[in-house]
Amino acid sequence: MLMIVMKFGGTSVGTAESIDSAAKIVAAAVERQTGGDGAEESPGVLVVVSAMGGVTNTLIDAAQAAAAGDETPYRDARSQLLVRHQVVAGQLIEDGVERAGLGRLFDNRLREFERLCRSITVLGELTQRGLDVVSGVGERLSAPLLAAVLRANGVNSQFVDAGELIITDDQFGNANPLMEATPARCRDRLLPMMQSGVVPVVTGFVGATEKGVPTTLGRGGSDYSAAILGAALDADEIQIWTDVDGVMTADPRIVENAQSMEELSYEEVAELAYYGAKVLHPKTVTPAVESGIPLRVLNTFNPSHPGTRIVEKTRQLHHGVKAITAVRELRLITVAGRGMIGVPGIAARTFDAVARQRANVLMISQGSSEQSICFVVPEAEGDAVVGALKVEFARELAQNMIEEISHQPDIVIVAVIGAGMKGTPGIAARVFNALGERNINVIAIAQGSSEANISLVVLQTEADEALRAIHDTFELGNGAD
Ligand code: ADP
Ligand code: ASP
Ligand code: MG
Repeated sequence: MLMIVMKFGGTSVGTAESIDSAAKIVAAAVERQTGGDGAEESPGVLVVVSAMGGVTNTLIDAAQAAAAGDETPYRDARSQLLVRHQVVAGQLIEDGVERAGLGRLFDNRLREFERLCRSITVLGELTQRGLDVVSGVGERLSAPLLAAVLRANGVNSQFVDAGELIITDDQFGNANPLMEATPARCRDRLLPMMQSGVVPVVTGFVGATEKGVPTTLGRGGSDYSAAILGAALDADEIQIWTDVDGVMTADPRIVENAQSMEELSYEEVAELAYYGAKVLHPKTVTPAVESGIPLRVLNTFNPSHPGTRIVEKTRQLHHGVKAITAVRELRLITVAGRGMIGVPGIAARTFDAVARQRANVLMISQGSSEQSICFVVPEAEGDAVVGALKVEFARELAQNMIEEISHQPDIVIVAVIGAGMKGTPGIAARVFNALGERNINVIAIAQGSSEANISLVVLQTEADEALRAIHDTFELGNGAD
């Protein structure tokens, strides 16, 4: 039996029409797998689904408002979400018993959500642990809904809560799967179902600790759920169904003539995802690479398009550049001073101080004169990092060995990506020329050791123009792939 994992994102299940399209795509895959006369054969299809588009944001906003004492948003959210899910069920499911059962399920889950928010208001505090319970409610509504819509389309389908499958640590809000426990759980729970011909519909984004406390895998984490489940079941392919024709040369919302790419390597897509291409959650690639499972990114709204295949190795283009992307809302921090020259340990102390703040460093660049180190962290972590550095280097600052710890907000990292850039000279020069012609200032530059990426720091106000300039200069919009 070929095993396929099919993940549908928020926009793919945002409305009755899109849920209907998603269900038809699954039904067609089941039909292909079982063939015309293979009625007893199991389909080998596992579905993973996100919350309906926008639902996770609504839930999080409501919980945050509740913590601040405002009870209106969660009350409104409860009724609005109930109606939204019931309307879809009403449109796509004829069977009255199914509809009534779903209605009760929606009502119970949303009552529970309201109870949680009420206690958040009473406590006046929202912990990350509490937030994980609230933010996972959307998937716990959409997955039973999609399973029922599949049944209405003649697919033998059953909802499964990923809390039973994906066992994580207790890093709430960004939990990590425990790969000792998770694969066995997945196999024990899912394989018998699948062998008996059932298509499981699993909640994306959520998991639970060993003790059963709900966790989430980070925003956009349903892609990661699909990869974890695919690896656990040793799937033949993991399909990510979204709202664009695969992974594109740039974010199509910013670069109008971005093109979808036929093929990308795991390494390239990992760089793209890490540097902000929202189409895949950055952690998605790891389980797929480790198990050698190909990923495919496909469009729910254009299912006949072949999308993008992500595999071990791909053919390379002449200049090696395949795609560009950007990470926003960052701060550039510089530690500078003539007293740093030849003094060992400044870099180590800098990054120790940063690590103690648990800040994520996205890029590092050191001038060859050794007079400065600069690096980039998310804006939200900027103040804490600068504070920690001022404490760490208090003595050096007082003695003027370090002249300043400066920081610049509102910056963006633009990443130029392609495994074929390895050993291709002149790429950085072409990037600089393209930006220079448009008077865009490059504040810092770094090349990853993988050489599949060149990263530049530019001002937020110039980032979109920079993306378009680089995209044009490498002719990525002209059917290069
Ligand atoms: P889903 O709800 O299916 O998970 P997301 O909104 O998380 O979808 O991701 C898809 C979106 O990612 C696209 O609509 C597109 O705007 C954005 N995006 C950003 N960069 C890229 C890229 N390089 N290729 C494709 N899409 C991208
Ligand atoms: N619903 C979750 C989110 O909005 C997970 C996902 O969409 O992948 O972050
Ligand atoms: Mg997503």
